Amino acid sequence: MQKDTIALHAGYDKTQGFGTMSVPIYQTTAYAFKSGEHAADLFALRDFGPIYTRLNNPTTDIFEQRFAAMEGGVAAVATSSGMSAIFDSIINVAEAGDNIIISDKLYGGTVTLCTHTLKRFGIKAKIFSSDDAKDLEGMIDEKTKLILFESLSNPQISIPDIEKIVEIAKKHNVLTICDNTVASAALFNPIKWGVDVVVHSTSKYTTGQGTALGGIIVEREGLNELISGNPRYYHFNEPDESYHGLVYSTTGLPPFTLRVRLALVRDIGTAPSPFNSWLLLQGLETLSIRMKRHSKNALEVAKFLNSHPKVKKVSYPGLENDEGCKKAQKYFKDGLCSGLMSFKVEDYETAKKVLNSTKIFSIVVNIGDSKSIITHPASTTHQQLSNDELKSAGISPELIRLSIGLEDPKDLIEDLKQALS
Ligand code: PLP
Repeated sequence: MQKDTIALHAGYDKTQGFGTMSVPIYQTTAYAFKSGEHAADLFALRDFGPIYTRLNNPTTDIFEQRFAAMEGGVAAVATSSGMSAIFDSIINVAEAGDNIIISDKLYGGTVTLCTHTLKRFGIKAKIFSSDDAKDLEGMIDEKTKLILFESLSNPQISIPDIEKIVEIAKKHNVLTICDNTVASAALFNPIKWGVDVVVHSTSKYTTGQGTALGGIIVEREGLNELISGNPRYYHFNEPDESYHGLVYSTTGLPPFTLRVRLALVRDIGTAPSPFNSWLLLQGLETLSIRMKRHSKNALEVAKFLNSHPKVKKVSYPGLENDEGCKKAQKYFKDGLCSGLMSFKVEDYETAKKVLNSTKIFSIVVNIGDSKSIITHPASTTHQQLSNDELKSAGISPELIRLSIGLEDPKDLIEDLKQALS
């Protein structure tokens, strides 16, 4: 099935229930079991079905199946936010004494999670340069549990050398995790390039109109080959005392997402609300069509900014003079580059003036909305980063980020023209 069809149909069987065209919202916390034996079978994984909405829910289940199909994965677990998807994915494999290798170009919240919060859990984050991954191999040791990067980074709009990262990871049997939020499942599928696990903040392009917070973790088919018998992932190969001695690598089920659900979502409670899963399903239905329009609008705006005398530098890989242009053509569907871009003006004062002068763009710390957004990363989304961290991430005070919406691009260009005047 083609992606546009998957987005509308996968995971939902209309012959069940009342045959509703729209997926029903199962707004419930719990489920009545048919008998005591039925309940026991579900808990022992002898039978499959809803147990309690913190573990699974029929509406969320359809969203997970549909999203996994969109990403070309085999299984998915939805979470309450993008951050919880990233947190669950990391602690699914890493524990005190371990290290993780993260890209130098990541969303600020992810940097803070990895370098500060996880440090208090005894997990060390090493930072590699993802544009060329030249320093990556030398950082891997026996305690390295994963390599994390974004397919299109927020806010630098940079594309890593994904092929090289995957090649190095495979050589050392280390798991790769790609945050595909900005590119979206419509424009890029990391699994097709050999990535093991894909995470998203579905709060962005997936929901599309800024209506629901969410996250998702998708696992590739055959990941057990990497995990089974691999000493790095010994806890997938030994009995889990907290789940009747279950050995995740021997269940025949996708082990990564199985453990996220059974051990982490169970204990930490990062489950989404069924209503949000339903809103995200509505978003998925139009994702592909919206991504084409976001990308087309963004390219027009980027071209305008690129030729404006007061703009120092525009980062948008759709532009022929952008460093990421070749990679965008190689990786992304039809070379479409999503709706996010950043540009630099003279100084912080000018950036503030532009921010305060736009009329259609709203000053918001979100991306992927149908309405256009303007953000100053250094003072907001990346404020928790130290000056050194900001510098190495390429986030300067004169940097402005735009999330281009679905308005008529002529109006967006007019708005920026008057704000820059
Ligand atoms: N990943 C990326 C690339 C993001 O841009 C964001 C949020 O901006 C997140 C993850 C975190 O997602 P959420 O806000 O849904 O927790």
